[in-house]
Amino acid sequence: MVSPVTSEVDFGAEGRQQGFLRVPHSVHRSAYGWIPVPVVCLCNGEGPTVLLMGGVHGDEYEGQIAISNLARSLAAEEIRGRVIFLPMANAPAAEAGLRTSPIDDGNLNRLFPGDPSGTPSQVIAHYIEEELLPLCDVMVDLHSGGSSLYYPPTLLRGQGWTQEEAALLKRLEAAFDLPYAWVFTGGGGPNSTARTAMGGANRKGVVSVMAELGGGGALDPEILKVTERGLRRILHGLGVLPGYEPDVQRGTRALHAQGSVYAYEAGIYVPLRDIGDTVQEGEAIGYIHRPDTPWAPPKEVTTPYSGLILAKRVPGPARRGDALVQVFRDAEP
Ligand SMILES: [Zn+2]
Repeated sequence: MVSPVTSEVDFGAEGRQQGFLRVPHSVHRSAYGWIPVPVVCLCNGEGPTVLLMGGVHGDEYEGQIAISNLARSLAAEEIRGRVIFLPMANAPAAEAGLRTSPIDDGNLNRLFPGDPSGTPSQVIAHYIEEELLPLCDVMVDLHSGGSSLYYPPTLLRGQGWTQEEAALLKRLEAAFDLPYAWVFTGGGGPNSTARTAMGGANRKGVVSVMAELGGGGALDPEILKVTERGLRRILHGLGVLPGYEPDVQRGTRALHAQGSVYAYEAGIYVPLRDIGDTVQEGEAIGYIHRPDTPWAPPKEVTTPYSGLILAKRVPGPARRGDALVQVFRDAEP
């Protein structure tokens, strides 16, 4: 079934195109209405096509702003090839500042390959996978820890399914030049059943990287700068932005995820350890306090993993099943 989405942008046209993807949404206040998903396309002759995507989760802001800033500041004449800017992919979620869409509770990064006859979030996922990704060579999908987590700027990538893909992924990592890279150790590939945008990219033969850029429901202006620099460096590295002169590379520490440490008690989490700390298996990383039962001693939280704390929970209150920190180890060279 074809997508019900119509695009105001002609992705085949040269020059600057901007407008909205119209996602049909017939509701009480608007019988023939549509949800506007903003999109910009810059196209100039031969070259690769790059999709820059943000706002897949609506409470993750650096990517939304960095992509918008880039879409405004670049001219089509500076480009070789095509760049599609999709800063607010799940627009209703982004408008509300929520991880999931208030219309259908849709978590866009759990809905790929989507459904053209489904809810608005499913329709958007389907449009991205079936209409946008087939146009693309490379996808960059920008996230953060959202309202509940915080990550220092971290690139996420697979290891590649061919030597050529592996080499390009390493080039993209070096070009983005974030302090950390989370290199996946399994899954993915063209037969991926992943419900994420990266899964969609794998199925369409698009080389993709993600990034986690801060979080906690806020925007960090320093991380925004790092993000914009990284996007320009990536476009330059792909030959799409030949006039840009990248500054000196700062270097990236490549990591593999060990796992998350979870809360098993409800209460207020008081961390002992922070991002950047190295922890040992069995070590106490924090306590869950119960101020509603002040005579009850706080419960110690211990890590089952040794390694580096890269991500942490931001809100104080935690329930059983909430991730408190995520522990990593250095990747094999
Ligand atoms: Zn996200």
